[in-house]
Amino acid sequence: MAGRNFLFVPGPTNVPDRVLRAMHRPMEDHRSSDFPALATPIFEELKKVFKTTSGQPFVFPASGTGAWEASLANTLSAGDRVLAARFGMFSHLWIDMAQRFGLQVDVLDAEWGEGAPLERYHEALAADKGHKIKAVLFTHNETATGVTSDVAGMRRALDDARHPALLMVDGVSSIASIDFRMDEWKVDLAVTGSQKGLMLPAGLGIVCASQKALALYDQAKLPRVFFDFGDMRKANATGYFPYTPSLPMLYGLRESVAMLLEEGLENVFARHHRLAEGTRRAVKAWGLDLCARDPKWNSDTVSAILVPPGVNGAEVIDVAYRRYNLALGAGLARMAGKLFRIGHLGDLNELMLAGGIAGAEMAMRDVGMKITPGSGIAAAQEYWRSTAAPLPKRDLPPRAPDAQPAPSAKKEKATVGARR
Ligand code: PLP
Repeated sequence: MAGRNFLFVPGPTNVPDRVLRAMHRPMEDHRSSDFPALATPIFEELKKVFKTTSGQPFVFPASGTGAWEASLANTLSAGDRVLAARFGMFSHLWIDMAQRFGLQVDVLDAEWGEGAPLERYHEALAADKGHKIKAVLFTHNETATGVTSDVAGMRRALDDARHPALLMVDGVSSIASIDFRMDEWKVDLAVTGSQKGLMLPAGLGIVCASQKALALYDQAKLPRVFFDFGDMRKANATGYFPYTPSLPMLYGLRESVAMLLEEGLENVFARHHRLAEGTRRAVKAWGLDLCARDPKWNSDTVSAILVPPGVNGAEVIDVAYRRYNLALGAGLARMAGKLFRIGHLGDLNELMLAGGIAGAEMAMRDVGMKITPGSGIAAAQEYWRSTAAPLPKRDLPPRAPDAQPAPSAKKEKATVGARR
């Protein structure tokens, strides 16, 4: 199909040309004396993205799922109790992994569309006088339902209960797009992947560990080989990896982190908020609802949009893809068919997102949904226009004079006639 694919799944996201160019390298020896000059600064710069000075980032050739595994395997032992809320597909999958590792998971089930239940976390922690709960699993942004939960509130709940459990946060679809403060919120393990806010292809599972988490490494007995923090720490300390790292991904990561820091993290978060808010205006104008049940949980990286009964959300996605070259996110597990998702994170601006919103609008009308043509896209445009930062005044050069005075109409006719 001619033209670009409009990629609006909530990861993988668009890889900026600058990152693609940085990745386009001949392979090198990852044990050369030059290699540490690439790797070591990446670890330092990554800390800024996590907003930590004391944490240590680990970069695994993996995906977010690998980073989940690393967080559990390096800090816990079989039979340990952990506390986790389940309110969407990804919080469910992390719990499933913990159970498959032989951890005892106290699951707090909440409605899909709600955020993490802070009061129930607090209650469970306060009741655990013997501190049997070793870790709290917390999904910052539940990508399946477009719900963002309050990590600072989770930290307060732990502190109020005077509970020493580790705080593990899944930031796969929040870190580098939504405000995240590892040190301030005393997060012990912050998990992410490369294919979302970091604007890279999938291929890296990144986890940042606090000193408190690292101190548990020796006593943690879960099996680990590929995801072993100990091997990684030893090798990283000298600027190397314990096994063959993906060079293009490292070059890409160096570039993407530089881009994020050049834009400024606060500006990145504000841009994501504006883009998300424009999308939410469109959803309202379409007369539809978000899966997020309260605006306080609205995600700035993904909007999960409920379709009315009788409409199959999968059909909207299929038409959008085959007719308009637009990739929208699907409803997962129990949300299958009930919604479609617009990912609005990563390397994105208003006009790119306008393409996604316009395409979703067309696809919804194509499957018979009663959507007023242009309603959503107009609402998004007006929101973005009315909230745009004022442009600094700029003196434009005077209009250049025409190179040659235009011939009069009569003269032109005469010339054309003479040529014949
Ligand atoms: N956690 C969240 C919140 C996610 O959105 C995803 C993937 O979309 C994952 C974990 C799993 O990450 P990956 O697919 O990179 O393994």
